[in-house]
Amino acid sequence: MSQRRLFVTTALPYANGNFHIGHIMEYIQADIWVRFQRMQGHAVNFVGADDAHGAPIMIAAEKAGKTPQQFVADIAASRTPYLDGFHIKFDNWSSTDSPENHQLARLIYLDLKKAGLVESKTIEQFFDPEKNMFLPDRYIKGQCPKCGAKDQYGDNCEVCGAVYAPTDLINPYSALSGAVPVLKSSEHFFFRLSDPRCVEFLQAWTQDGKLQPEVANKVKEWFSVRTNADGTTSEGLGDWDISRDAPYFGIEIPDAPGKYFYVWLDAPVGYLASLKNLLDRRGEDYDAYMADPRLQQYHFIGKDIVTFHTLFWPAMLHFSGRKTPDNIFVHGFLTVNNGEKMSKSRGTGLDPLKYLSLGMNPEWLRYYLAAKLNARNEDIDFNADDFMARVNSDLIGKYVNIASRSAGFITKRFAGRLGEEDPQAHLLYKLASSALNEVKDFYESREFAKATRTIMNLADQVNQYVDQKAPWLIAKDVARDAELHMVCTTAIGLFKDLTVLLAPILPRLAAQVSDWLGVDVQKWDSALVKLPAGHVIKPYTHLLQRVDVKQLDALFEPPAEAAPAQAAIESIAPGGGKNSTPTVGAGASFLPPEGADSALGRPGGERNLAPTVDAGASFLPPEGADSALGRPGGEDIAPTINIDDFAKIDLRIAKIVNCEAVEGSTKLLRMTLDAGEGKLRNVFSGIASAYKPEDLIGKHTVLVANLAPRKMKFGISEGMVLAASHADEKAQPGIYVLEPLPGAMPGMRIH
Ligand SMILES: [Zn+2]
Repeated sequence: MSQRRLFVTTALPYANGNFHIGHIMEYIQADIWVRFQRMQGHAVNFVGADDAHGAPIMIAAEKAGKTPQQFVADIAASRTPYLDGFHIKFDNWSSTDSPENHQLARLIYLDLKKAGLVESKTIEQFFDPEKNMFLPDRYIKGQCPKCGAKDQYGDNCEVCGAVYAPTDLINPYSALSGAVPVLKSSEHFFFRLSDPRCVEFLQAWTQDGKLQPEVANKVKEWFSVRTNADGTTSEGLGDWDISRDAPYFGIEIPDAPGKYFYVWLDAPVGYLASLKNLLDRRGEDYDAYMADPRLQQYHFIGKDIVTFHTLFWPAMLHFSGRKTPDNIFVHGFLTVNNGEKMSKSRGTGLDPLKYLSLGMNPEWLRYYLAAKLNARNEDIDFNADDFMARVNSDLIGKYVNIASRSAGFITKRFAGRLGEEDPQAHLLYKLASSALNEVKDFYESREFAKATRTIMNLADQVNQYVDQKAPWLIAKDVARDAELHMVCTTAIGLFKDLTVLLAPILPRLAAQVSDWLGVDVQKWDSALVKLPAGHVIKPYTHLLQRVDVKQLDALFEPPAEAAPAQAAIESIAPGGGKNSTPTVGAGASFLPPEGADSALGRPGGERNLAPTVDAGASFLPPEGADSALGRPGGEDIAPTINIDDFAKIDLRIAKIVNCEAVEGSTKLLRMTLDAGEGKLRNVFSGIASAYKPEDLIGKHTVLVANLAPRKMKFGISEGMVLAASHADEKAQPGIYVLEPLPGAMPGMRIH
C-alpha cells in the first residue's frame, strides 16, 4: 500500500478562554484518527492554532488591562496542560496572529479580488459614540420589539425567541459603554458568494458525496432559501461581509487603511499558516507540499461552524487558486449527564483540568469518547454512571483482565519466556485477523464506537478461552506445565493484538505494553507478527486502575460559590496567579460572539465560552469537606510568617537538563538541574509515581536553591524541586511538579 500524505486540523479555538470538554472531545477524535493513520505508516501533519482575532478578544483584553497580543499569548500558554494531559499530539500549535497568517490571508484576499469576487458597499451600522467603534449585533442590547423583555441582544430575544435587526430594538444601548448608539455609514468589503461562479462551484463541491449526508442536506438549504437577521427570507447565497472598521484586533486589509478582515476570514487561513510555520521550521517547502497532488486535507469541526467550512472556506481557496479540503468531518456537541449543551456560562459541565487534577486517567476519557463516537454529526452524552461502567467493564474487566490472569505464570513459572501458541485456538486467531481488518475500516471511516465494539467482542472471546482453560487450575498440577505455558502464551499473544487495535485510543497504555512485551504495539503490523517461542517479556506490572465512584462525585460536585471561593484563593495565594483574579473571566464571560453572520448559522458558536468558571474551578483546591473546614488540600495553612522569613528561602527557576530513574528506588527520580550557576545540580525527588523521567527533561521548574545539601542512600541531593500534592494521598492522589509560564529562564529568582 502506498503511503498517504495527510494534512489534518481541528477547528481553531477562540483565544478568549480555557478549553472546555467540547474542545477536548474534538481533539481526541482527531488525535485517534491521526494516530491510526500513523500506525499505518502514513505521513501526517496534524496542526492547530489559537484563533486570536476579533472584537471579543480586543474588548476582553482591554478589560484585563492587557494588549490583545499579551492576552492571547497568556491563553496560548495555558493550552499545554490540556493537550499533554489528554495525550493529544499536535505537530504544531500556532496563532492566527502569526506573521504567516497575516501574509497568507492578504495573499488569498488579493487573489479573490483579482478574480473579481470582492466588492465594496456602504452600509449603516450602530456606532458607539463613547467607545468610538462600530458595534457588532451582539454588543447592542435593548428591549425586545416583540415581547418587550429587557436587556436582549441585537439579533434575537432569549425570552420569546424572536429574530430581528439591532435597529428594531426599543431603547438600544451599547453593551460596552451603556451609551445610546447612533447609526453611521461605513464602507465594507464583501465576498461575492452570490456570483454564479461561486454558486455553481459550491453546489458541486458540497453535493458530490464527500460530505456526511446530514451535512450535505443541511448545506443544500442555503442554496435555495435563507433567513435574514430581520426574520425575512431570501433566495440563494448572500454576499459575505468580510471587513470590519478600526479599532479591531485583526489583519489590516491591503490598500484599505483602517479596514480589517472580519475574524472569520482569517481564522481558517490559520490552518495553512500553522502548517507553513511547521514546514518552515523543518526547512520544508510549503508551496511544494501544498502542490503535491497526493496531499489530502481534512478538517475536524463541530456542527456549529459548518457554514464557514463548507461554503466560505472552500470558495476562498478555490477562487484564490488554492487546493480545497478533501473533506470536512463534522461532529455533534458533547452533552454531560443531563443532555444539556456544554456551557460554562450555565455553570455545569466537566472541567478537563479538574478531571486530571483528581488523578483520573486521561485514557479512560479517550476510551469512553471513542466508544460513543461515530461518523455522523450527532450529539453524544457523557454519562457519569455509564462512563464508570464502560471503563471498568470493558477496559479492566475484559481487556486488562486477559493480561493480569496470564502474565504472572509466565514470569513465575517460565522465567519470563513465552512458549508455543495453542494450535487448537485457530478460531480465535481467525477472529483476531478479521477484527484487524474490520477495525481498520472502522477507524478510517471514524466509526470509533464500532471499532471498540469489535475489539471488545474479540476480548470476550479471548476471555472465554482463558475461562475454559482455567490456567489457575492447570497451574496446581506441575505435570501440566507445558499446557499452562501454552495457554498463557496464547492469551498474551492475543492481548498484544488487542493492544495494537486499541493503540490509537490508548497511546500511553500501548507504550507501557510495548515496554512490557518488548515489541512495538504502536505499529499496526505488530498484530500480524506472532511472538516467537523463547521471547522474553518483563514481569507484569499493573496496567490500569478502575474508575472510583468517589472521583466522579468530586468531578461533578458543583463549584463553590464564586465570591467565597475567590476570597479563599486570595488568602491562600496572596498576589495570586493569573487565574486567581476574576477580571479576565468576568470580562470575557458575558461577551457573546459577533453575530453579524448569524443568518448563515451560528458564527463563532464556540466563542461565547466563558472562562470564568473553568479558570476558577481548575485553580481551586479540590472542593469538599476539607476546604469547607478551612483545610485546603487536606491541611491547615501554616502559621503566619513575615516577608523576611520568606526571603530566607531562595527559590530559583531551574531547567531539568536530565532526569532518570533511580535503580533500587521506586519513589525517587534523579534530576540534573541547571539553575544558571555555570554548574549543574543533582537533586532527588520523590515523584517517580507521577512522572516518566523523559517527560520532564527540558522542562523548567522551581528549585529551593539554598537548602542544605542532604546525603541520601543514592547520593547527595543539592536542593529540592517544588511539587504540589494533597495531604491525603489516597483521597486525592497525584503529585504535580511546578512549572513556570513560558519565558522564565534558569537562575531567575522567585519573589
Ligand atoms: Zn422577546
